[in-house]
Amino acid sequence: MFAIVLFSGGALAAAQEQSRPVKAVGRGEIDDQPNMEIKKIGLVVHGGAGTIERSEMTLEREREHRAGLERALTAGYEILKRGGLSLDAAEAAVRVLEDDPHFNAGKGSVFTSAGTNEMDAAMMDGKTLKAGAVANLRHVKNPISLARLLIEKSDYVVSKSPRVGPLFMAGEGAEMFAKENGIELVDQKYFFTQERWNALQKVKESEKAGGAGGKKFIITDQDRHGTVGAVALDQQGNLAVATSTGGTTNKKSGRVGDSPIIGGGTYANNATCAISCTGDGEFFIRAAVAHNVSALIEYRGMKLEEAAQMALDKAKKLGGEGGLIAIDKHGNIALPFNTSGMYRGYVDPDGKLVVEIYK
Ligand code: ASP
Repeated sequence: MFAIVLFSGGALAAAQEQSRPVKAVGRGEIDDQPNMEIKKIGLVVHGGAGTIERSEMTLEREREHRAGLERALTAGYEILKRGGLSLDAAEAAVRVLEDDPHFNAGKGSVFTSAGTNEMDAAMMDGKTLKAGAVANLRHVKNPISLARLLIEKSDYVVSKSPRVGPLFMAGEGAEMFAKENGIELVDQKYFFTQERWNALQKVKESEKAGGAGGKKFIITDQDRHGTVGAVALDQQGNLAVATSTGGTTNKKSGRVGDSPIIGGGTYANNATCAISCTGDGEFFIRAAVAHNVSALIEYRGMKLEEAAQMALDKAKKLGGEGGLIAIDKHGNIALPFNTSGMYRGYVDPDGKLVVEIYK
């Protein structure tokens, strides 16, 4: 039996405290019976934070974004319901968003100044603290699955001596490794979307005009960046995170953001929580946002919501805007952001999918 306990916003903490299963253990008794009452599972996803104004959004566009987030939640949630791994759920949810051209990851990734698509991704397993990270990929259809593969291949044995496999791979070498391991590679053309191409042209023109293009160059955050991510808690109490991105429009070829930086944009630890960030990557790396959320819980005993807000505020003080999603080992969730919107979704206590975009 299981229950999903997911909340958002200010009502989170109180509701979570109430809903947490309580098993009375008398003084001196050892709680050696498995808790058969309720096994919580939880899943939260995001599709990027930024200036997302209702006035800029067509109904059609909003509907498509919401549908994409719902599909991602469904894919991950089905796995968790069946007793599957949080790693599988987070990967499955992110793959759906990578395949959806409306989000900046996989198909639909933004363009570099050189007109290429270069993607970053990472996953982390809260149980083992194993992680896999990839950067500057140009041909891997689903970068998140290459990050997952690095987790799976992290331990191996050569002539009876144990070795540790690479955790972080980039560029051509990473793609060769993907090919050797049967990960699907595609032509760069696969990642092309007219909308992202137009966004690149807009940003370039605006730069040429010295940013003084006025109304002619209204550069929305939708044009500039985005990222997708998922955090999950499975029936065994394991936390996992997956984050994938095309980065930022007009970024220099070779630039790597926070998404594949373990502790920057991605982190998970069964002892605390799992976190996936989105926003101005350079600032999230400098503020070590994802690791700080976990550290504030581990070392300061903070509640998830407070820790998430404090870590995000640190990036903001440096000048970085964005948001994050997080889930802790109890199934509490937090979805703070300091922009006008963040594409986000979770599953409520009744198993209903909740998707939100604006503040
Ligand atoms: N954090 C991503 C990066 O800097 C972009 C984003 O999430 O908007 O690559």
